[in-house]
Amino acid sequence: MHQLKQYWVAEALEKDLGDPTQPESVMSFKSVMELDEREEFPEKDVEWLYNWNLHHYHIPVEYGGELKSYEEFVAFVRVLSRRDLTTSITFSTLFWSGLVWMAGTHEQKQKLAKFIKDKHGAMCLAYSERAHGSDLVASDVQATKVPGGYLLNGEKWPINRATISGISVVLAKTDDSGGARSLSLFVVDKSEIDPAGYSNLPKIKTLGIRGSDMSGIRFDNCFVPEEMRLGQEGAGLELGLKGFHLTRTLCAAFSLGSADTALRTVLKFSLGRKLYGKTVFDIPHPRTTLVDAFLDILVCDCVTIAGARSFHVAPEQSSVSSIFVKYFVPVTVEKLVQNLSVILGARFYLREGHDEGIFQKVVRDNAIISVFDGSTVVNLHALILQLRQMAKYRAKRNAATYEGLRSRLETRFSLEAPLPPCERAKFELFSRGCDDVLQGLEISLEHLYDLKTDSSVDAEVLQKLITLTSAVLEELDAQDEFLASSGFEFGHDQSPELFELAKKYCTLHAAAACVHMWIYNRKVLGDFFAKGEWLAICLNRLLMTFRPSSGIIPSIYIENVAQELLKLDRENKMFSIVPLQLAQAPSPEEKTHAASELQLQA
Ligand SMILES: Cc1cc2nc3c(=O)[nH]c(=O)nc-3n(C[C@H](O)[C@H](O)[C@H](O)COP(=O)(O)OP(=O)(O)OC[C@H]3O[C@@H](n4cnc5c(N)ncnc54)[C@H](O)[C@@H]3O)c2cc1C
Repeated sequence: MHQLKQYWVAEALEKDLGDPTQPESVMSFKSVMELDEREEFPEKDVEWLYNWNLHHYHIPVEYGGELKSYEEFVAFVRVLSRRDLTTSITFSTLFWSGLVWMAGTHEQKQKLAKFIKDKHGAMCLAYSERAHGSDLVASDVQATKVPGGYLLNGEKWPINRATISGISVVLAKTDDSGGARSLSLFVVDKSEIDPAGYSNLPKIKTLGIRGSDMSGIRFDNCFVPEEMRLGQEGAGLELGLKGFHLTRTLCAAFSLGSADTALRTVLKFSLGRKLYGKTVFDIPHPRTTLVDAFLDILVCDCVTIAGARSFHVAPEQSSVSSIFVKYFVPVTVEKLVQNLSVILGARFYLREGHDEGIFQKVVRDNAIISVFDGSTVVNLHALILQLRQMAKYRAKRNAATYEGLRSRLETRFSLEAPLPPCERAKFELFSRGCDDVLQGLEISLEHLYDLKTDSSVDAEVLQKLITLTSAVLEELDAQDEFLASSGFEFGHDQSPELFELAKKYCTLHAAAACVHMWIYNRKVLGDFFAKGEWLAICLNRLLMTFRPSSGIIPSIYIENVAQELLKLDRENKMFSIVPLQLAQAPSPEEKTHAASELQLQA
């Protein structure tokens, strides 16, 4: 078992699912590819997960479930996602229960917990409409007040699990005059409404996650009782957006699972295929691409784990912490997958043969993550609206704010520190200028200077970390200065330059998250992590997106990362800063035993 308890559930699930390269495992690559080819809903896999009681981890402990921390949550979703995004995304529509845990009445929470736990209930989120996409305020679905409840009318599309789910969380207009307070949320329990009042739209064919129940739902004078409304009338948009804070962060686990399979599959290919008398892994270009992919995963880990922990430590900052994760991780993993595809050469384009064609499924499935739950541009736009306030807040930090920052950073990043329960009621639409990760960068820089007297740290690596962290700080200062002197635009017509600035801010945030993660976990995450060479390379790579290469990284650092990648692969461990044990393939004796048992049963 991993020394960090919060990774036990993920390790146990991983072990019970079995090695995905073995056809007899649950959700093996072979079986998920067969389902994908037939575009078939993964019914048996979903039921297996319910029987494993994974749904309990979607219900907070205070409502009889097992949901204790979002760090734990991200880890098990990653384990699922490395096998199959169709099942993982399908099962994880239970994420939307977060809206009820955040804003529901005691009765609504109890009822939902019972529905999920006892009935193996599933739910979907119905925000989008064909005509309006990201423009939620423009929604056409109407909820007209009538005695005892509302009459729902209109159509939501495209909605994942709209048809095969018992509950739809529907965003609908309760006030015709429009504006931010014109929408309300309804937790529509299909078993309690007249079936004549709604219909399911046909399955939509999608590029990836082909077996998903992708459809839509239509309401025709459908009566929903008042008790199905979530929160106050008119609070729908605000609650809906706060719900995205949770799900946007959790989406990173889908990306990280995809990244693990993409890298593992291509690494295996590169070690097995011989050209010019050596393996593909021994050719410098593919080797560098593989090492870069591993480094990208390590950065994404720091961003994601810190984001998940922040719900417990700084819930009032969820509006920005979720954007950093949702922008940075899916976009980085998309690029990583694209880069790795080059190494597979012709096999990238063939749907059969190499590991059942799972890499191609990853390419197709992974492409949706940056689109749903608010696309990349929507996230960047939301960040643009908060950038100036964050710069102003940073300029005004003082001794008192530093104290708070210091303590929150430690709890957020130290993986051994116990997390307080998540207070979802504290989620805010705006962080009021707070962003602990970048605003606390000087604190970690001070720690780096303090380490100069610590003999356990390599002096050369430390000096590089100080130089690179100082460079991140310089970039941040320059950016804040620019923001302080530029004008503010409300609304949707933000300039392309501001989108570039927001991207840069996310990159600086990722760099800061890596530095904090190293500072607070040097003695917890093993020798490779502690040495810090990986961190120096990652900081250098992140800075290179807007600074020319400084030539600061010795090639031996990169070679040491390559060796760690090979070691994790050999030991069958997750490519991660928390390299949990992956399921082992059964030994030949175990396989023979299993086969003879099957024959006996037959
Ligand atoms: C497979 C799949 C599953 C889905 N599942 C669900 C679900 O379960 N529930 C649900 O409610 N919805 C779901 N959706 C819908 C999805 O979340 C929305 O489609 C998406 O949020 C954006 O809408 P759109 O693609 O129509 O883009 P639009 O909103 O029409 O935007 C088009 C383009 O306009 C530009 N743009 C938009 N906004 C901005 C901005 N603020 N700043 C700058 N440029 C901008 C961008 O270039 C954008 O790509 C799903 C979609 C797919 C494909």
